[in-house]
Amino acid sequence: MNKIAMRTPLVEMDGDEMTRIIWQAIKDILLYPYIDLQTEYYDLGLKKRDETEDRITAEAAAATRKYRVAVKCATITPNAQRVEEYNLKKMWKSPNGTIRAALDGTVFRSPIVAAGIQPLIPSWKKPITIARHAYGDIYRNVEYRVEEPGKAELVFTNREGEETRQSVFDFPGKGVVMGMHNLDRSIAGFARSCFNYALDLKQDLWFSAKDTISKQYDHTFKDIFQEIYDKEYREKFREAQIEYFYTLIDDAVARVIRSEGGYIWACKNYDGDVMSDMVATAFGSLAMMTSVLVSPEGCYEFEAAHGTVTRHYYRHLRGEETSTNSMATLFAWTGALKKRSELDGLRDLAEFARKLETAALKTIEAGIMTKDLAQISQLPQKKIVNTEGFLWAVKRELERELQQ
Ligand code: NAP
Ligand code: MG
Repeated sequence: MNKIAMRTPLVEMDGDEMTRIIWQAIKDILLYPYIDLQTEYYDLGLKKRDETEDRITAEAAAATRKYRVAVKCATITPNAQRVEEYNLKKMWKSPNGTIRAALDGTVFRSPIVAAGIQPLIPSWKKPITIARHAYGDIYRNVEYRVEEPGKAELVFTNREGEETRQSVFDFPGKGVVMGMHNLDRSIAGFARSCFNYALDLKQDLWFSAKDTISKQYDHTFKDIFQEIYDKEYREKFREAQIEYFYTLIDDAVARVIRSEGGYIWACKNYDGDVMSDMVATAFGSLAMMTSVLVSPEGCYEFEAAHGTVTRHYYRHLRGEETSTNSMATLFAWTGALKKRSELDGLRDLAEFARKLETAALKTIEAGIMTKDLAQISQLPQKKIVNTEGFLWAVKRELERELQQ
């Protein structure tokens, strides 16, 4: 059989622990036999990051800007315990944070929906994708613990030294006060990433905030989204027959619960943090969540939303059998291959990626699944398989798909 050709490489970022094992198995079982896979390989495994003083992460991010499509394996974000475990020179920063900062991107998280894995909200039939703004607000705040009566003020000093002052509160006693900020530039980048991604998926875009209460802060978000939409995207949305609309966050929550899914919900930083965990849980499993970082210039980095599944890895190291779900990592690969095909006009490759996704879904829908899914699936007949066994079962379905 002739292997499918590629034109431009994908940026491949390898990672850690159980997901590193899955990474290799996906390539060996489901990709190399069918595709003449071209990647520019960056090993973001913790050992290599330590060896290179984390330069490898910056290089991988730069390569993503160059080639525009990357696929990333989950990686360890070191803490004190990892510094000891890996005898690290330093507590290196989160690779995802570094890459996100370099690309100034927005993260979109979507569930993989399979029949037999019923969401906890019965009306949800299609994925709900959450876009989370990744700058400012409470994550970059300044807080103060008020210990005695006194007044708190908000003071802005411009470059000429002129001050604008507002009273926050006249404290009669103990309390707390906080200052937050955001930037028009960052909000505009977020808005463009969301509009572009909605056009990519051909799905409606919702944006929610609390502008009725926050008449400057949240209202600025609403205004920037509206202005960019009117100037740059209204026409494109009309052509794609999709909609953009703004609504209050509490109204959005009510609509989401009653909806059947199939849209993108853009959230401010904190709302996105909370709502993405709610949506992931309600869709069934973190192991079925995919994630893609989209930059305002149109660079894409695909990955699973979960981590390196450390507990399973330790079991694997002890020689015990594991049943780790590879769906989200597999869909990171197919997402990247589809995007690469689209940019390079490679129909065979796009077709293959779609068939691979179909094969993976059909496998689960036939009742062959890893332990995490078996626990939540309503299918009457289930066969629990181990980590590699699942990939071999997908391969059998894939062979059938490729015959058609
Ligand atoms: P995790 O790797 O997502 O795993 C947490 C638990 O969720 C697992 O122990 C497992 O539960 C279940 N789980 C997650 N993915 C699964 C899968 N594919 N198949 C089956 N079960 C799955 O989170 P963590 O244990 O908090 O973090 C581990 C490491 O990952 C940390 O070093 C962290 O820094 C890193 N991390 C990386 C990323 C990233 O690169 N994007 C994201 C998050 C965390 P059971 O053990 O009950 O089966
Ligand atoms: Mg969270």
